[in-house]
Amino acid sequence: MGSPNSPFIAVAALSAVLNILLAIYAGTKKSDFSGIKTYVWIASLSAVYTLGFCFELAADSLREIKWWINLEYIGMPYLPPLCLMLACHYIGLGKLFNRSTATLLMLVPSLTLLAVSTNDVHHLFYRSVYLRSDTPTPMADLELGEWYIVHGCYTVACLLGAVVLLCMHWRKTKKPYRKQLLSLILSLLLPVLAAFLYLLGATPDGMDPVPPLTSVTSLLMAWSIFRNDMLTVVPVARDTIFDGMRDGVLVLDSADRLIDYNQAAATILPSLATSSVGQPIDLIWRREHGSGFPLSREADEDAEDEREIEWTDARSRSHYSLRSSPIARDKGKDSARMIVMLDMTEQKRLQDRLREFAYYDDLTGIYNRGQFIRLAKQLLERMQAAGLPVSLLLFDIDYFKQINDTYGHETGDEALRHIVSSCRDKLAPDDLFARYGGEEFVVCLPGLPLREAGEVAERLRRAIAERPLVGEHGTVAVTASFGVAEASPGQDPLKQLLLEADQALYLSKREGRNRVALSAARPEPPLE
Ligand code: GH3
Ligand code: MG
Ligand code: MG
Repeated sequence: MGSPNSPFIAVAALSAVLNILLAIYAGTKKSDFSGIKTYVWIASLSAVYTLGFCFELAADSLREIKWWINLEYIGMPYLPPLCLMLACHYIGLGKLFNRSTATLLMLVPSLTLLAVSTNDVHHLFYRSVYLRSDTPTPMADLELGEWYIVHGCYTVACLLGAVVLLCMHWRKTKKPYRKQLLSLILSLLLPVLAAFLYLLGATPDGMDPVPPLTSVTSLLMAWSIFRNDMLTVVPVARDTIFDGMRDGVLVLDSADRLIDYNQAAATILPSLATSSVGQPIDLIWRREHGSGFPLSREADEDAEDEREIEWTDARSRSHYSLRSSPIARDKGKDSARMIVMLDMTEQKRLQDRLREFAYYDDLTGIYNRGQFIRLAKQLLERMQAAGLPVSLLLFDIDYFKQINDTYGHETGDEALRHIVSSCRDKLAPDDLFARYGGEEFVVCLPGLPLREAGEVAERLRRAIAERPLVGEHGTVAVTASFGVAEASPGQDPLKQLLLEADQALYLSKREGRNRVALSAARPEPPLE
């Protein structure tokens, strides 16, 4: 082709091919960016526009030129509103667009296409199209009509609108994303600037630079979208939702590098900074906790399930639950994922309180009856399996009703706490001490046969009797009666043991109180 337009045609053709390739790339690459379809349209229509331009340059009659201009306008007028849509998707406003709002945006471009293709009838778009006399090859010059002004204004308004929206987003954009944002802004500004230069006649040979530039703009956009796969997982209005959340959120890419995090996450992991973006989460976690990230991707392979892990932060004794969920459209092993860190501190505190209520007596702080039964059963099993003795003692405060009646219920409560404190330090750490009911207590003594258990009971009896309660009512003497029994193998040894100890206790009450009675159910072994 010896035409002087050849270099321009070659550049434009290259640009068209590049646009086609970008459209195919974006259309086939897995992406979660909500505006990906919009981008595919932009690259495809840019290709149509640029191809039309190539043919226009290569045409050798006015008729042919007009024909190829029609093809250009199948693509070109739709690009600015599509760019506006892309910008909205980029800043998380993609939900603004449904079928009807998108159709509305495309109204002016459709009318433009109609105006161009029927221009010969009304001359609203081009008042006249004629061949230039100053060029060696046929090139058209145009006198602009009224609708061209409308089209021009709409084009500039859409592009500048998109630029303004992106610029407004600048401050809210974390540093690592700013390059991408800048690239997108540039891709929108470039064609506007080029069009102005063209209208001012400042381009070489009066050539329209916009069509060949579409490949550059499409490339810049593609870079913004696909760079590190970052934007694909950040399609949200993050300033309103993301940073306002109470739970910490980490966004990880398919290689488990940190893509984004919110304010709450930065509070939970104080070493997080914008410079952490792009770093492997394992490294960040190690810096913070000294161990690797607990939710490994291998463990998370059936990524549909959320997993929970708790850890305790030594400094603040906080509890967090970690939950991993995939955020890619096609969930699977290589998808990006979101880690939500739920603050469980309060819940854990309540759980501990509940456990206290469930296991301990709230007046005296020792085990309650239920917990005693559970633990004593296990203890008995263990000791009997090892062939060791276990004894149990029950004791009941003497004439406790009188204490209540004489000094009041408050003093009665005080006496119960007093007795517990008198007994506690007389018992071994392995002994199970519990409030069995009202003013009755139980102690399970592992490893002790009946006689030794009787000695323990005697020590406790004396400790109680010798340490009266001293309070606002002066000195209140308290005593207790004890029943002691030793376990023997059987169907339900604990039940049997409690029954025998209770019978012994009844005996010591009957014999005058403030004494220890050993169970008669098991005859003492003969002395050697
Ligand atoms: P005995 O020597 O025969 O054991 O006489 P007692 O008065 O101790 O006998 P009884 O079992 O009839 O009385 C137990 C009393 O303990 C009745 C109840 O009001 C009181 N009591 C039970 N639980 C509590 C408590 O938590 N606080 C107080 N202050 N009194 C309690
Ligand atoms: Mg009683
Ligand atoms: Mg009593």
